[in-house]
Amino acid sequence: MSRVLLPQQIDNAAPLWGALAHRLDGQTMGTTWQVRWVALGPLPEDRVRAAVQQELDLVVNQMSTWLPNSDLECFNRASAGTQHAVPEAMAEVLQAALWLADVSGGAFNPAAGALVNLWGFGPRLRYTDPDFVLPTNEAVQHALASNDWRSLCWDGALRQLHQPGGVLLDFSAIAKGYAVDRVSRRLAGMGLQHTLVEVGGELRGQGMHLGGQPWWVDLEAPPMAPGFSVLPTTRVALHGLSVATSGDYRRVYTQAGTRWPHTIDPRNGRPVGHGLASVSVLHPECLWADAWSTALTVLGREDGMALATEHGIAALFVQREADGNLSESISPAMHALAD
Ligand code: ADP
Ligand code: MG
Repeated sequence: MSRVLLPQQIDNAAPLWGALAHRLDGQTMGTTWQVRWVALGPLPEDRVRAAVQQELDLVVNQMSTWLPNSDLECFNRASAGTQHAVPEAMAEVLQAALWLADVSGGAFNPAAGALVNLWGFGPRLRYTDPDFVLPTNEAVQHALASNDWRSLCWDGALRQLHQPGGVLLDFSAIAKGYAVDRVSRRLAGMGLQHTLVEVGGELRGQGMHLGGQPWWVDLEAPPMAPGFSVLPTTRVALHGLSVATSGDYRRVYTQAGTRWPHTIDPRNGRPVGHGLASVSVLHPECLWADAWSTALTVLGREDGMALATEHGIAALFVQREADGNLSESISPAMHALAD
């Protein structure tokens, strides 16, 4: 069985007859990227690769927690009471992240870096390191004291950010989506209208594939042990749409008999543990698909569904039930795409 999701607006400009399909890929942000496009004429592959690389490098140079001299890491190391000029792209992501932090009551929090590090998901002590131990309650309380995004006193007009001391930014739940948007827009600016851009599983599709077909993408499904019921596949026409999936089955570790996924609830300082196997979000902008999928994962099925409904977000929640089966819940905006 499968479910098909279609965008509500379709732009009829299909690739011209004789157009060819192209594909490039590479590595970035600790993961892979892939760009596909359909176009007539001689192949500008070198130009496309250089343009893609430039956009990805810009995001990494400004927003990576893994690059010691990124703008974000320089801010993280700055002394208490200092003011910082934020470059344009980083400001765009910060603005979106702070908005979502406000509306989600801190479930999404771009200032949760201290907690992310504490639980072994930052660039420093990794949960994979042999000497990693689960943090103590005191350590959690200590990290919680420095994750208030409001203390950053963001001034959007001046692009000024305040470091109150010890606040660590982490844009990992939103920067990949933003990078996808940048690459997609850059390609459009080069005259490529029919593109599918992916960074680490987050995707954005524009225009169409060959033969007037949309870019069809199947939502990533959580792996299931044999013997349990199988959920329907959800197939999406990524036409002016992006998709991001947050899952509890990637980057997760088990210690003391508990699964510790890499999404943290910044409200209590602990990895989320309310049984969501995955949340997929569809949105025209990949930045928002990426950020919302993390926000809804933290909120859990009930609160997440309420917030997605209030904001018209197309979301699919997959919950692990007590009997080991998975069950799905679909927000009204996602239902509308299936009609
Ligand atoms: P997923 O693919 O599961 O959505 P992402 O890569 O988008 O995961 O984001 C997970 C990363 O975001 C974590 O590794 C951490 O760096 C950061 N993060 C974890 N919890 C939060 C949160 N509540 N708000 C913002 N960022 C978070
Ligand atoms: Mg995310």
